[in-house]
Amino acid sequence: MEEFITGGSEVLVVGGGRSGLSAANLAADLGAKVSVVDDDPGSFSTEDWGRFRSRGGQILKERTVGPWILESSFRVIMSPGIPPIRWSGEVVAPPLPQVRGELEWAASLWPHPVIAIAGTNGKSTTTALVGHLLSAVGHAPFIGGNFGTPLSEGVRQVRQVLQSGGRSSYDCGVIEVSSFQTESMQAFSPSLYLLLNITPDHLDRYGGYDLYREAKLRAVSLFGEETTVIWNGDQEDYRTGRMRGAAKAAFVTRSEGPHPSFGEVPVVRIHPDRLEISGIGEIPSGCQIPLRNFRLSGGGNLENLGFSVLAVILFLLREGRQIPFPLLEQGIASFTGLPHRMERIATVRGVTFVNDSKATNVGAVEAALAGLPDSGHPTTVLILGGRDKGGSYLPLVPGIRRQVKVVVVLGEAREKIRRELSPHVPVEEASDFQEAVARAFSIADPGETVLLSPACSSYDMFHGYEERGERFRDAVMRLEEQFGVKGRQGS
Ligand code: ADP
Repeated sequence: MEEFITGGSEVLVVGGGRSGLSAANLAADLGAKVSVVDDDPGSFSTEDWGRFRSRGGQILKERTVGPWILESSFRVIMSPGIPPIRWSGEVVAPPLPQVRGELEWAASLWPHPVIAIAGTNGKSTTTALVGHLLSAVGHAPFIGGNFGTPLSEGVRQVRQVLQSGGRSSYDCGVIEVSSFQTESMQAFSPSLYLLLNITPDHLDRYGGYDLYREAKLRAVSLFGEETTVIWNGDQEDYRTGRMRGAAKAAFVTRSEGPHPSFGEVPVVRIHPDRLEISGIGEIPSGCQIPLRNFRLSGGGNLENLGFSVLAVILFLLREGRQIPFPLLEQGIASFTGLPHRMERIATVRGVTFVNDSKATNVGAVEAALAGLPDSGHPTTVLILGGRDKGGSYLPLVPGIRRQVKVVVVLGEAREKIRRELSPHVPVEEASDFQEAVARAFSIADPGETVLLSPACSSYDMFHGYEERGERFRDAVMRLEEQFGVKGRQGS
């Protein structure tokens, strides 16, 4: 296959965030003449940018990049954060021969097998978990992509070591991919592709669910039979999705699983206390993995574990290895999860505070509510709100009826949430974040929970979900100081 960028190429990188900078440096490593265009390069003062400049890299300030990209004689690398509507006039940009997404391009240069993780919710947790389990069974994964370190950076690290005569410190890549990175892909062939779930999100960008769903399924149509797609057997998307490509199928399910027409395929079935594996020739059918030592609860984490375990097993078998079940179980027991996802912060005066700031869509909050212990009556005060993403909050009603005694709303979306949910649950408004936490605390009784799981993005009040989660933690810490520490539960 012809290389997209070579020593003589003139390259335009659109967007100067972390992925853009990594891609620009990688292209410069390959000997290309590189320009980065961004509408706000004022902040590009870090050492990394200094190094990029000192290698002859150009930085251009420009907002209207459409003509540059569409009629470009450059090779163009797109950062995932640049909405295609801004440069192509389309919600999803057409695949163009002169344009590649940062992740797709980097993947074409990555020398090791790739496990790619996609879906609406659970990508980061599953990426970290697959990486953790692979390390536990003796592999050396690079973990990154849309989560953490951009893949371009991983490629640079490997190239530098190889060029100096060393050996790559990695033997595979565990890569999170977002719909923004798959929607216009042209070639991608991971060993395994985990499609965790598809529920409404980013409707503000896609204008509706169908286009979003398409963006999530698009990559599947590119795969050949060297890729195995692990589907969520409890969602119907696999039926249409599977028709599109030549990839093999495997499933994770809580229920009956795949349609019988799929025949004998690898399946992990989730039971409350164990995973059950079937459909894999090398493993006795009905083989069980106990869940008692898995520390994450709720928020779809059993699904994430089912996907991760199946991915690791299929990956090891591909590599011709036996499955070291005791090591796999140790890995399951030692995974502690990521901050801001169903993270217990502290218990103050008997009230437990849980930070799920990363729940920026309705599906994540549904999963959060479904995972709370069922005490027979509502014992949770739920903090919702932020910047609305264009969907309905009504799918939350069944979970709210079971679990939530009061919803505290704030942020830009508060009126819409109040309108939709107040027929079903008491809704109280807060004018700022501090007030929301204090109000929720005053409503919760000892033994109950305050859950921040906002179903909205944070950009109306914060720079991102991390800042929102940190502010939640700070507010809880202040309550702890005020009311005394009772049963602090780690962080
Ligand atoms: P992503 O990278 O896809 O945003 P994260 O692992 O960061 O996924 O989790 C995002 C949110 O989704 C968190 O609120 C988390 O509790 C919730 N979540 C995690 N896994 C799942 C899942 N399998 N299904 C639904 N929600 C999930």
